[in-house]
Amino acid sequence: MSDKLPNLIDPLLFAERRSILTGVLKISELERLSGMVVNTGGDIAVDARFAKQGKRAVVSGKIQTVLELECQSCLQALAWPITLAFKLAVVSSLQEADSLEIDCEPLLLNGEKVSLHDLIEDEILLAIPDYPRHEYDCIPRHQSRDSDFDDNSQTETNNPFSVLAKLKKTGE
Ligand SMILES: [Zn+2]
Repeated sequence: MSDKLPNLIDPLLFAERRSILTGVLKISELERLSGMVVNTGGDIAVDARFAKQGKRAVVSGKIQTVLELECQSCLQALAWPITLAFKLAVVSSLQEADSLEIDCEPLLLNGEKVSLHDLIEDEILLAIPDYPRHEYDCIPRHQSRDSDFDDNSQTETNNPFSVLAKLKKTGE
């Protein structure tokens, strides 16, 4: 399970051979993704299966990881589990991509090989929300409140003794 994944692969050959690639990729190996996480220390588990569907070479698989994103409310780290499935059909042109006869996303093959790492990174980037946030209310109330008090009332409310003094006065 801790096998290292190859990067550049020939998807047509792999499809002919019905190859299965399972392994682990480090988050730190993916540059774009690394720029979006607070911690690049984690692993990404990948299971990619190559096959033929009709004449079409397809690759389908699963990607699993836990990212540490920055919460857009409190700017603290936020664990973001990702489990996604993908299914791509190999095409050699954009026209071919437009007229895909099967229910797949296109995987454009420019030369002989594609980057498996790029493919995985693209899928993960698509799964990251634009504004990740903690599910709970992560900003304490006193931080989000507008602080347009004058200095006197500020010290008064922050000082428990002044509150006590007030209570004494009004309690009589
Ligand atoms: Zn938060």
